Amino acid sequence: MPATVETVFASVVARNPGEPEFHQAVREVLESIGPALARHPEYTEARIVERICEPERQVIFRVPWEDDRGRIHTNRGFRVEFNSALGPFKGGLRFHPSVYLGIVKFLGFEQTFKNALTGLSIGGGKGGADFDPKGRSDREVMRFCQSFMTELYRHIGAETDVPAGDVGVGGREIGYLFGQYKRITNRYESGVLTGKGLAYGGAQVRREATGYGAVFFADEMLSRAGGGLDGKRVVVSGSGNVAIYAIEKVHQLGGRVVACSDSSGYVHDDKGIDLELLRELKEQRRARLDDYARHVRHARVVSGRTVWEVPCEVALPCATQNEIGGAEAAALVAGGCVAVVEGANMPTTPEAVRILAGAGVRFAPGKAANAGGVAVSALEMRQNASRESWTFDESEQRLRGIMRDIHDRCWNTAEEYGLPGDYVAGANIDGFRRVAEAMLAHGLI
Ligand code: NDP
Repeated sequence: MPATVETVFASVVARNPGEPEFHQAVREVLESIGPALARHPEYTEARIVERICEPERQVIFRVPWEDDRGRIHTNRGFRVEFNSALGPFKGGLRFHPSVYLGIVKFLGFEQTFKNALTGLSIGGGKGGADFDPKGRSDREVMRFCQSFMTELYRHIGAETDVPAGDVGVGGREIGYLFGQYKRITNRYESGVLTGKGLAYGGAQVRREATGYGAVFFADEMLSRAGGGLDGKRVVVSGSGNVAIYAIEKVHQLGGRVVACSDSSGYVHDDKGIDLELLRELKEQRRARLDDYARHVRHARVVSGRTVWEVPCEVALPCATQNEIGGAEAAALVAGGCVAVVEGANMPTTPEAVRILAGAGVRFAPGKAANAGGVAVSALEMRQNASRESWTFDESEQRLRGIMRDIHDRCWNTAEEYGLPGDYVAGANIDGFRRVAEAMLAHGLI
């Protein structure tokens, strides 16, 4: 890291105490952009790096709600509007007990560069609450969403800030949030949220987009190295939205997913994960993975261990941040892994990235590989604005094209800076340059 950037990083740590995930995300970007700063002294002159690390606006609010037994709960809600240089703030909402300001800031910061990489006109933001939807009834989730939106509505809008889903926020939650927004504002503003149901303004392929997109990226990356996903053994972590559609696309492209996980453990099915069954358990019954082995006799359910101990050629972390540390990376290398493609946000620690690089494992960072979700969200906004609706096939083709473009941008930028094959540098430099150019043009705001 150049000395001037080191000073900025020290100030970010001092100004945002107790937020290690945010520090980690900032460090990863700042470590990459030295070559771009050397080529563009105007960025340093305009203090772009300092300004890009400071969110434009941060909102924290109380979310009171009542459970089915009449007990009152108070959660904390967040929306961090990180950067609107390229378009309205855009990024998901996460409902999980681990959510606090540092998590939301890390996600909003990442989102800014990810959204820039898509080449679409969207800024970066993120939000959520420390609410745990697990074990809550539909009515409890609805009451929570209504209370959350009763504050959030004043900060968002189709041209201002457009939230979507993330961990713990899927189609059900987006429906309740949209309903409450419509009721409070008395406006049918379809473009205010993305990830909506197909019955009321949602877009084809949005549900599938992040998982499919990550797999398209993996296929591009492997093809560049001389072979696609066809015939590869793949391990996926998580069994939520991103994981399920990643598994589906791997199978469609001829690969075989032999293991997936949830927070209680993992299931190993060497014949290939039965996706129908997994979807029924997770999407319909909201069950644990243990149930998988009750239906598939040859499968093995393992708790208290890491899914990364299952040998594979390709690893797709699709669960949560920092799930692949040094030990897990070493296990992947020992198991013959040749590529790690991040479906989740920041699932690989810096130590793990170093171990993978040292072993020659190809590595795609989430801000490039999981950008398919937000890209299709931007297409959903476009369809809402023009009152059009594209078919599944057309939308999937567009997604594939966007992921190929993102892949090529990362690849070409890395080459341009003399770092061939370094997807982290390629993604960070390209995303940073796009935001920096727009910020320069807007003057000191
Ligand atoms: P979901 O809530 O749908 O699923 C998350 C999954 O990860 C669940 O199966 C969960 O299990 C599992 N999980 C959580 N913690 C762990 C853990 N420590 N070990 C193993 N499994 C775990 O979330 P999404 O699929 O939407 O999001 C997953 C990741 O992808 C997140 O990092 C998110 O930010 C990122 N992402 C999502 C996008 C989207 O469009 N949804 C877009 C871009 C990125 P359990 O149910 O037991 O908690």
